[in-house]
Amino acid sequence: MGRKGSYFSLHLPGFMLPIHHIYPKLATPANVIITTHQKPDPDALGSSLALSQVLLALGHSVTVISPTNWAAFLDWMPGAEAVLNFEITREKSASLINAADWIFCLDFNTLSRTKNLAPVLEQATAAKVLIDHHQQPAVESFAYGISDITKSSTCEMIYDFIIEGGWENLLTVDVAACLYAGLIGDTGSFRFPAASANVHKMAAHLKETGLKHTKVHEHIYDNFMESRLRFIGFVLTSRMEVYYEYNTALIYISKNDLLRYDIKTGDTEGLVNYPLSIGGIKMAAICIDRDEERKWSFRSKGNVDVNTFARRFFEGGGHFNAAGGRSSASLEETVKTFKKVLKENASEFQLI
Ligand code: 5GP
Ligand code: MN
Repeated sequence: MGRKGSYFSLHLPGFMLPIHHIYPKLATPANVIITTHQKPDPDALGSSLALSQVLLALGHSVTVISPTNWAAFLDWMPGAEAVLNFEITREKSASLINAADWIFCLDFNTLSRTKNLAPVLEQATAAKVLIDHHQQPAVESFAYGISDITKSSTCEMIYDFIIEGGWENLLTVDVAACLYAGLIGDTGSFRFPAASANVHKMAAHLKETGLKHTKVHEHIYDNFMESRLRFIGFVLTSRMEVYYEYNTALIYISKNDLLRYDIKTGDTEGLVNYPLSIGGIKMAAICIDRDEERKWSFRSKGNVDVNTFARRFFEGGGHFNAAGGRSSASLEETVKTFKKVLKENASEFQLI
């Protein structure tokens, strides 16, 4: 199986069939790959591991492949120990992908978000299934799927998938812990607008499985090294600029800063939110000098559309109030570009 035109991959090019088409098909045991975006966050890894546990219980052979490594604060997730990091298992991962019947693509909507894994996914003949909540999906890449930007998180969508598929009995406490992690990650622990009544009802249902929610918060937010907290102090003192005339703040971090404080994957997550705690600040941006690129994150409040900002100026995208992007220019150059486009477009982006 896993060949074009197989039972699973009725793919009309350019057309994505609704997700409910796959529920009956999943009654037949198959080879399943689940993948997500590079440097997976709690929502990306949580949704992947929750789905993996449910599909395993349904009798499928399931492998979760991450395009890259992930933050150590996610290692507690049930099933994390079996996740393949594509960067260090290229051949094994590629052969599993080529033998797959289904490839579930979670928490991203354009194959380029999987970095070096993208060409392998591109040529795979398995039926690709999209489950995602970002803006502007590249639907032509997927045979089946659901893209819903009103959803708080991909974990909320996996929860819906489990319930609508009729598998509520498979919602174990381990599945609940993975889903809860993504839910708090993407809603800022229930404070962002996407934390709807349904999100709170879902959280109540997760609690009914016996979920210890305090443990999940501790794993994700209270499990860092001292050096990371000192790094945050340094960054807020010496690497943050506030432009009150544009209601915007910028943080930039050099390679040397990362080395000096021994900063690892995941240690910079959430840093971009700090400037938004300054009264009046509507947009916060952070630029980090990574080996291969300069990585941008943007956060905003209210009607400031950082998805469009990231898409237009920094080769990125994401959500209306949370987006990311990249640049090949040096840190100094890309920061200069940021200040220029901020000045020129502040009014269009409702910053002034
Ligand atoms: P973060 O700033 O936490 O990395 O990402 C914020 C949101 O934007 C996430 O939902 C993430 O998936 C998305 N995002 C981050 N970087 C990129 C990017 O380079 N391209 C696109 N399209 N989305 C991104
Ligand atoms: Mn997400």
